[in-house]
Amino acid sequence: MVVPMEAKVADMTNPNGGWKWSVLTQCFDEEILEHIAACPPPMEDLGDDVCLWKNNDRVRRRLTNDSSCILCGNCQETLIHTLRDCNIAKCIWSKTIATNDYNNFFDADLEDWMISNLKNQSDFGLGVVKINSDEATAESGNWSAVGGVLRDSHGNWLVGFCRFLGRGFAITAELWAILHDLEIAWQKEYTKVIIESDNKSAVAMLIDVSIGSSSSTTLVQRIKEECRRNWTVNI
Ligand SMILES: [Zn+2]
Repeated sequence: MVVPMEAKVADMTNPNGGWKWSVLTQCFDEEILEHIAACPPPMEDLGDDVCLWKNNDRVRRRLTNDSSCILCGNCQETLIHTLRDCNIAKCIWSKTIATNDYNNFFDADLEDWMISNLKNQSDFGLGVVKINSDEATAESGNWSAVGGVLRDSHGNWLVGFCRFLGRGFAITAELWAILHDLEIAWQKEYTKVIIESDNKSAVAMLIDVSIGSSSSTTLVQRIKEECRRNWTVNI
């Protein structure tokens, strides 16, 4: 018996939440079954599926032949590429690190880089979470992507995201990034947030009290709604 290519891990669980051993034992040898037994089956309550393996890992596991990055299309999509070296990630990092730290930051290997980041401190107010986001849009307008990082008052990295948006304008992508950052910050129950953006048009739209009529109006309204929640947001 062969597992269908389109099968999901969840298809291999039974209604009681356990592994579907009647199927698994027909598909895999004993060693692999032992590895599966050591893994907790997926649960619906834990949220949507997310892809954790980078393409570089997926090639090793013969899940794909393409190890390139899904955002920039270049290089091998390794962990350090996704976190730091991808053009999308670089846009974000370049706004958060000092110019004289630039070479050390981008030359370090993964382990040294992670440790260095965890030690990095830059105080900007106790209890305040700072949001930096940015977008990258192809000149052709064929694709755009956004990313963001949230840092605590000591400059420590809290959470980050990177998302492919499809076709769109730079201003729309920037607003998407800010909205997504705010949603994450609210979910994490932060109460004081500073948004930093280098997109003057986006900032102007967000601090404008009138409601415009551009294609970005819905996004602006959604961001303003987020800002009106019971917390402090400075742009
Ligand atoms: Zn990339």
